[in-house]
Amino acid sequence: MNYDLVIKNGRIITAHTSYNADIAIQGEKIAAIGQNLAGEREIDASGKLVTPGAVDIHVHLQMPIGKFTSSDDFFTGTRAAALGGTTAVVDFIERQPGETMLEALAARRALADPKVAIDYGLHMTIGPNDITHLDEIPAAYAAGCGSFKLYMAYGLRLTDDQLLHAFRAIRAVNGLPVVHAENWDVICALVDENLANGNTTPHYHPLSRPALMEGEAAGRVIDIATLAGTRLHIFHVTCAETVGRIAAARARGLPVTGETCPQYLLNTQEVYDRSGVAGALPVCAPPIRGQEQQDALWRALGSGDLQLVTTDHCPFTRAEKETGIAANDFSQIPGGVPGIEVRYAAVYSQGVRHGVMTENQWVDACCTTPAKLAGFANKGDILAGYDADLVIFDPDKKVTLSTEFLHENVDWTLYEGVQLQGWTETTISRGRVIVENGKFVGRGGDGRFIKRRFSDSAIPILA
Ligand SMILES: [Zn+2]
Repeated sequence: MNYDLVIKNGRIITAHTSYNADIAIQGEKIAAIGQNLAGEREIDASGKLVTPGAVDIHVHLQMPIGKFTSSDDFFTGTRAAALGGTTAVVDFIERQPGETMLEALAARRALADPKVAIDYGLHMTIGPNDITHLDEIPAAYAAGCGSFKLYMAYGLRLTDDQLLHAFRAIRAVNGLPVVHAENWDVICALVDENLANGNTTPHYHPLSRPALMEGEAAGRVIDIATLAGTRLHIFHVTCAETVGRIAAARARGLPVTGETCPQYLLNTQEVYDRSGVAGALPVCAPPIRGQEQQDALWRALGSGDLQLVTTDHCPFTRAEKETGIAANDFSQIPGGVPGIEVRYAAVYSQGVRHGVMTENQWVDACCTTPAKLAGFANKGDILAGYDADLVIFDPDKKVTLSTEFLHENVDWTLYEGVQLQGWTETTISRGRVIVENGKFVGRGGDGRFIKRRFSDSAIPILA
């Protein structure tokens, strides 16, 4: 029989194995993997890698933060993601006063559904105002919010007792808590101290958010999660101190995972010493740190002490970043950097090509583990019956990153002039070719909200 679409002669890379075979797609699903398969349409992938579509479980599209909104909307952001080989993202919901969690979910979906070019999910944020709404968590989970975002920093931060109550409520529905771990009280003290001493430039941003206290917060939240009996995922790990806490928990058999992001893997804190707005652009939290920390993050990906790479994509324009410089106050710079398009190729080029990770670890960290962790049941792997979310990746293509080359809706990139070897050639989303020879041919609104949930036996019993 002829399938709808067959990818022929590629080298298939999964989290566990690499082999040569054809992949047949029927409708939205992978129908068969084998030799000499025939299709109504065939794409020759000779000399190319064929991988699952990459999954980015940490993105902020058109996210209001203070007086600004992150500059990529659900269309431009998911288009850039697709061009970089990403076929599913997870964004966020913040419940507004007077709304239920289900109403907040519906409002966010009303923004996203007509625009998304790839499939997506949503984390439900649990802030201090949501602690009296924890009884809505079962309804949010049933509606497809398999994961819940908790902050230990900013106005949305939870105190330790609030973290405990939230963890118990999330545990009761078998959801996944994801946490921004930093020590807010210490950060506020150091920011105040620096500003009072006239230390107002972005140079003082990383110095006000020390790695030691990121590790402290991670250790504390791991212990609270352990007490509550829940699994836990730590967002945007930047340093050996946090890696060590996660590795120690895992060595005790605890279901704790951690991610890092391209901004921490490809940059060092000297970026904050650039003059004027250039030093403000890389401001994000936790901050980009020194070379030793960057080396430690790569080692952790290679050893498995960190399990995945996401982006925390949250772009603001140069003009928006400039406001913090004009205010003479690094703490007023809107925090966040773009990265949704470069992640998959950056990890391949700087990780696999440089011998830090295997190609299977690359797929595991960018596709398979994020999909499994976030509860995407049929994504992140190449298996018959799975969604036909696939990438044809050219391992030899050399690209020089620049604002013009990338498609993120923002007027700068952290990776200007960076050369990568390896880039996405073709992206397939549930059987539809949406990127062809590096050109976007998809459509906003073709992506779908994916209800994420976990099997009831997913959490090991904790001590
Ligand atoms: Zn984030």
